[in-house]
Amino acid sequence: MEKKLYIETYGCQMNIADSDVIASVLSGTGHRLVKDPGEAGLILINTCSVRENAEQRVLNRLKQLRHLKKKNPGLIVGLAGCMAERLREKLFDTEDLIDIVAGPDSYRDLPSLVAEAASGKKAMNVQLSRCETYSDILPHSGHDGISAFISITRGCNNMCSYCIVPYVRGAERSRNPESILGEARMHFESGFREVTLLGQNVDSYKWVSGNETIEFHALIAAVAGIDPRLRVRFTTSHPKDLSEELLKTMAEQNNICKHIHLPVQSGSSRILRLMNREYTREDYMSRIEAIRRIIPECSVSTDIISGFCTETDEDHRETLSLMEWAGFDFAFMFRYSERPGTRAARKLRDDVPEEVKTKRLNEIISLQNSLSLRSKKNDLGKIHEVLVEGYSKRSKEDLTGRTSQNKVVVFPGDYRKRGDYVNVLIEKYTSATLKGRII
Ligand code: SF4
Repeated sequence: MEKKLYIETYGCQMNIADSDVIASVLSGTGHRLVKDPGEAGLILINTCSVRENAEQRVLNRLKQLRHLKKKNPGLIVGLAGCMAERLREKLFDTEDLIDIVAGPDSYRDLPSLVAEAASGKKAMNVQLSRCETYSDILPHSGHDGISAFISITRGCNNMCSYCIVPYVRGAERSRNPESILGEARMHFESGFREVTLLGQNVDSYKWVSGNETIEFHALIAAVAGIDPRLRVRFTTSHPKDLSEELLKTMAEQNNICKHIHLPVQSGSSRILRLMNREYTREDYMSRIEAIRRIIPECSVSTDIISGFCTETDEDHRETLSLMEWAGFDFAFMFRYSERPGTRAARKLRDDVPEEVKTKRLNEIISLQNSLSLRSKKNDLGKIHEVLVEGYSKRSKEDLTGRTSQNKVVVFPGDYRKRGDYVNVLIEKYTSATLKGRII
């Protein structure tokens, strides 16, 4: 009998890739993905723990799904991912709707967890692994058919003091390059035109086989070598590991997109030290200078945290001045949210009042809006090669796609161009979008 599986994914792109792994594992036990949770016999929520409100969203969502269990008492509901790993059996006490708790390294075990839950028991596997990379599991569901995510590393060794990732995803492991290349080839052959290589810190990718060591720059060059029509992106980079070899490889290969997401988190060396980021303000600036020198057309985006422990007005001003200096094209900006169990939670006081964090965050957002606007304005009159992704959100008369620099472009066109590259002349802009026409 066909079994219907509904997966809802929260958090980062790594989770999107993991949801594919989950779908693939469960397809082996006859589960087919459906889009409506009301149809499903098994609902899995793939969760994120990075901020408190990410977890609150999941708990709210579970409340919304409660009526489905009343209608169908045989419905199995599971939590996967980082929140499952962090809260473990506590989740069964908090929310009686939950039947399965599955940590990020336990997805091969899902068929037996589902069988256990079907027999009326609560089922849990939160064992972290030193070697699991799911390298032999080919993803099951495409996303939009144009752009796919490929995990190349799992876990993180960095121990940034605010971050929960090393505790819920374990130590860093790199995936076999052959399986990465195989997956990228498969995507290209089935019509995808863009792959994004994913890891908490892609620059520290390293695969040792005999006398040979493959590092990230060699891996990305090999993926880009599959076909010039396959665009390659990657995220996330760590400033301490971003190498000149990678920048040179990006400059040499047209189809490696000219965009780097390089989280700075703070512009103050004192705060960076407390965050255990292992670079100073000056180190970060030297990485930006290297990018500008080797790939002048490269865009740079970042992550910024406002109000980390002990942050003063002076530290905050240093963040603003660094943003201005770097001229970031885009940023993800957040208030500091203490995560239980992290080094910051154990050793530092979360002593910046919430209203100060919010005020500083608003200043950061306002500055970034003007930087984003400036970045888009610089594209006016330029011609960009755009990979067509589909209709724009607002109108079926317009198409949307992204430039190599990861900027969204909207332009009139025929949907049959989806998956093609077109040259677009940029004629208008907002802080979020470029507008133009195909030439
Ligand atoms: S690099 Fe730091 S912030 Fe990023 S996942 Fe690793 S520990 Fe967390």
